[in-house]
Amino acid sequence: MTRHIFVTGGVVSSLGKGLTSASIGMLLEARGLRVRMQKLDPYINVDPGTMSPYQHGEVYVLDDGSETDLDLGHYERFTSTPLTHESNYTTGQIYLSVINKERRGEFLGKTVQVIPHITNEIKEMVRNLATADADVVITEIGGTVGDIESLPFLEAIRQIPLEVGRENCMFIHLTLVPYLKAAGELKTKPTQHSVGILRQIGIQPDVLVCRTERALDISDREKIALFCNVPLDAVIEERDKDFSIYEVPLSLQSNRIDELILKRFGIQARPADLEEWHDLLHRLRNPEHEVSIAVVGKYADHRDAYKSIYEALDHGGISQRAQVRVQPIKSEDIEREGAERLLAGFDGLIVPGGFGERGIEGKVEAIRFARERGLPFLGICLGMQCAVIDVARNLADLADAHSTEFDRHTPHPVICLMEEQQGVVDKGGTMRLGAQPAVLMEGTRVAAAYGSTRISERHRHRYEFNLQYRAALEAAGLVIAATSPDGSLVEIVELTDHPWFVAVQFHPEFKSKPTAAHPLFAGLVAAAVERHAGSAWVAEA
Ligand code: GLN
Repeated sequence: MTRHIFVTGGVVSSLGKGLTSASIGMLLEARGLRVRMQKLDPYINVDPGTMSPYQHGEVYVLDDGSETDLDLGHYERFTSTPLTHESNYTTGQIYLSVINKERRGEFLGKTVQVIPHITNEIKEMVRNLATADADVVITEIGGTVGDIESLPFLEAIRQIPLEVGRENCMFIHLTLVPYLKAAGELKTKPTQHSVGILRQIGIQPDVLVCRTERALDISDREKIALFCNVPLDAVIEERDKDFSIYEVPLSLQSNRIDELILKRFGIQARPADLEEWHDLLHRLRNPEHEVSIAVVGKYADHRDAYKSIYEALDHGGISQRAQVRVQPIKSEDIEREGAERLLAGFDGLIVPGGFGERGIEGKVEAIRFARERGLPFLGICLGMQCAVIDVARNLADLADAHSTEFDRHTPHPVICLMEEQQGVVDKGGTMRLGAQPAVLMEGTRVAAAYGSTRISERHRHRYEFNLQYRAALEAAGLVIAATSPDGSLVEIVELTDHPWFVAVQFHPEFKSKPTAAHPLFAGLVAAAVERHAGSAWVAEA
């Protein structure tokens, strides 16, 4: 019998529902349960793949090529739950599916309505995850209780207990308990109102996770319990963590959320095995080195645009016992002020993925600087394409070399549209997406880092290294360190005469975990630690 946990949020957005859901998943796995996770997003876009990073933050790509919400990144970093296209649905996807059914005549002439047709579709998407090999399905509902667009989702999850039994369902509501300076106290009224809205819809939460900057005292908890109709021990404090998000599961555990869930479901489970997690926090708290890494991209001013990269850098730090200070820098600022000025003093550089021309020259310039100064560098997707452009222009004498994404008439299209992309007009879900195998050349830096010559990594791109320039670029010193198995697509390039110059066509950040840093992030941080320790690097003559 699969149990269901529904996570909703109230009062304000950005409460960290994704992190809390991931942490609950992690705690249940630590107790031996098999967990599945999914997120339901109320917006109308079919997936976030077509949304601007300013709107939505990073697009998180799964092995199966689904372009999903960045909360799924938390799920994968915290748990080992398998994620697929069934792990993230939007209102747009649900309507699209219902409308397609209507066009095929599947509703047999009935009037198609939000209730029951849309809600049935939502319930089906939740129940599809409740397979025999899942003990618990955690479904996070995006948005905030009270939003018009979340109503069909809340109505659908209200109905699920009627079908699978109330005792097999648990509603966890995240809420904000703000501190009012003028009054000098925490305020519980917003929580009461938000639970009031849920109860009007017919959902009585079983657990309230109270996000707060200050400790709740017993009278706050008693008040919340009484007015929101939950037992006192189900009012769980989740205080802001200023040190690390990886503290969240441990703090929830010390407030016994896992006990509460298991007791509620009547599941006997082994004690939590959290050794790995304690160990990683110990490493985070006791670094032996410190490095600073610049991330030069278009969206340096947006906290969530490169979320997985920032996380993966932390993982690299955990693995190398280094505190990694990450400094996002706008590539346009490099264009204005120069790489010499803005990148001096850093121990490493990342140029992340991206689309569109704005800031491109700044990225190429940052890479030139890293290449000439021996600054450890990792290029990701567009970052690799920019590295190829730099090498073409500055080492292979291919003046004005460019990607046809940015200059259709460049004399040297060293990056060009993949053949399979010619003629593609639809923007949604049409890139080269998801896990693809690559073969690494023996003796390369990356083969040593991976400890293998066969890898699988996640992709999201339309443009590729133009093989017509392979010989010219190799003659200039560029090492083609990996290709697709048939040799048609370049997957990794590196430079030998450099402490760490590695650029990849895929997104390694999506496969890094706090307990298992991705080898390329570990490698970058290790090289940065060496540089910081002062080992001077001099280019071969
Ligand atoms: N814009 C480039 C392409 O489509 C790079 C994509 C990316 O960095 N994710 O190939």
